[in-house]
Amino acid sequence: MSNPLLEQTGLPAFSAIRPEHVEPAIDALLAENRQRIEALIDNTPHPDWHNFVEPIEEWEDRLGRVWSPVSHMNAVVNSDALREAYNACLPKLSDYGTEMGQNERLYAAYKAVAENADALDEGQRKVLDNALRDFHLSGVDLPADKKQRYKEINQELSSLTSKFSENVLDATNAWSRVIDNVDALRGLPQSALDLARQTAEQNELEGWMLTLDYPSFYPVITYADDAELRKDVYKAYQTRASEQGPHAGQFDNTESMDRILALRHEQSQLLGFDNYAERSLARKMARSSDEVLGFLHDLAARSKPQAENELAELRAFAAERHGVSELEPWDIAYYSEKLRQHRYSITQEEVKPYFPETRVVPGMFDVVGRLYGVTFHEVDGVDAWHPDVKFYEIRDHDGTERGQFYFDLYARKNKRGGAWMDDCQPRMVTRNVAQIPVAYMTCNFTPPVGDKPALLTHDEVETLFHEFGHGLHHMLTQVDYSAISGINGVAWDAVELPSQFMENYCWEREALNLFAAHYETGEPIPDELYGRMLAAKNFQSGMMMVRQLEFSLFDFRIHREYDPTRGARIYEILNEVRDEVAVIRPPEWNRFAHGFSHIFAGGYAAGYYSYKWAEVLSADAFSLFEENGIFDQATGQSFLHHILERGGSKDAMDLFVAFRGREPQIDALLRHTGIAA
Ligand SMILES: [Zn+2]
Repeated sequence: MSNPLLEQTGLPAFSAIRPEHVEPAIDALLAENRQRIEALIDNTPHPDWHNFVEPIEEWEDRLGRVWSPVSHMNAVVNSDALREAYNACLPKLSDYGTEMGQNERLYAAYKAVAENADALDEGQRKVLDNALRDFHLSGVDLPADKKQRYKEINQELSSLTSKFSENVLDATNAWSRVIDNVDALRGLPQSALDLARQTAEQNELEGWMLTLDYPSFYPVITYADDAELRKDVYKAYQTRASEQGPHAGQFDNTESMDRILALRHEQSQLLGFDNYAERSLARKMARSSDEVLGFLHDLAARSKPQAENELAELRAFAAERHGVSELEPWDIAYYSEKLRQHRYSITQEEVKPYFPETRVVPGMFDVVGRLYGVTFHEVDGVDAWHPDVKFYEIRDHDGTERGQFYFDLYARKNKRGGAWMDDCQPRMVTRNVAQIPVAYMTCNFTPPVGDKPALLTHDEVETLFHEFGHGLHHMLTQVDYSAISGINGVAWDAVELPSQFMENYCWEREALNLFAAHYETGEPIPDELYGRMLAAKNFQSGMMMVRQLEFSLFDFRIHREYDPTRGARIYEILNEVRDEVAVIRPPEWNRFAHGFSHIFAGGYAAGYYSYKWAEVLSADAFSLFEENGIFDQATGQSFLHHILERGGSKDAMDLFVAFRGREPQIDALLRHTGIAA
């Protein structure tokens, strides 16, 4: 059988890829890679970059280029058959990855290549440093008994973390409420009522059905006039998967959480770290636990007074305007929304006409062109997965092609929600290959209706700029080694720098004038509306800041302070953190941590601080543009050369310092979020 995945030479042949091609292609490639790598190890007595690392990079790249369209189509043109094929490959790929990470002969060969450091350029040394670090983190160099223990821990952790997610999911699904009188839902916007109606219909019920899924939970807690209803929903949500609340004890994560922390601690110590926080930092930009904690405490101290003021204002507003003397935790979002409307009264309907997609997209290209001197060119006739998809090339001022991307902007059936940038292929230059980076840019905007262009909300414009920032990091790279080109090999806590940086251009008048104009009249955003948008931007930013800091400090401290003789002390530490930073104290029965999948089941363990860390970087980087002019050519070129082009080829701190002339400072973030410090 001919298989387009295996015959692929250039870009993927999306229109020819069928679900039945997927598993055979992955099976064939994994078998081929295994056999080739073993043969290479056998036949290379003196491994060096060219005879050993380079061929492996090329084989891994091929595997990546075959898997990328599959995983992308699974997200954007999903079907049962494709999902089945995709899911069947996941464990195979994960086994392959583990096997390579623990292959002692492969590790020995990489070490031999690295030992001959004089023969390597800077980028090659970085690739090898990263590879050796990752081998070490996967336990390959442990003595036999410890290696065995390491594997046992991994297995137990993997079942515990998936059990954790399942419990959260089951607890979320276990709760629902059917409302038969719409009056009980007073305050909810029409879209939320429609969703509740549709959910009821899908369950073959009359009336309106509320659930704990975020699209249902959020409008209730924010808009429902009935305080008892908000309380019930809040309580159900904030006690999920715990020994409290409406399903107390039924999906309880308590034991799993303790065990996860214990195992992470033990495994970190096997690898020679003091605790899991230290292990987490081995792959991050932050250099030490003290640095992370110092950073979080500093931000907290400087934001808390403002958060307290904001809460006081909210209390006063609720008392004066609504006669509510005591604000309960389930009242905060509700009265905050009332206060926001009272102060700024901005509706999306008012803003959207100024952001037609037909202006925003070319305007964004214009912004990027002014900053970095590149141009964008649409290419027709490129094979894609849907007729709405567009394809573009990015070229240098001298016409050199830098990168390409697919643009898939509209929501449709069988397409995953949200917006993201993903890697189709990385930049890679070897003796055999000269490959430029290709990205998938995916959004979920409302498609145009009739001859009216798609009108975007300001949030959507910001999301588009954010994801395009990731795309530029991937596509403008000049690094030749795929493991460190573009976003590859970039420290987790630095990877949001280029994306958040781009968001700034959605708020600057000079930039807005390039892409925001009324779709009918062509008029720019009126000053009065722009003023209200700016004022509303930082509404309750102090309260939001301390909440994120609470999560970050909690996550970091439970991993850093784990002590086998004292146990996990999860809520004890959470309460200490709240004493320091929080302005809102949830009720005793709140079990927020039991549903905190980011850190117990996701990749953010001892890494939740990364969100704030990267915000500091992006705000501080942008502040240099504020000083020199937001389209200053020299500053743009410097950002391009020191950050965007360099990918993971150097430590993120070194790159930042090279651009900014000093280490990051938090002042710009505080200023941008309106926190007077
Ligand atoms: Zn991002």
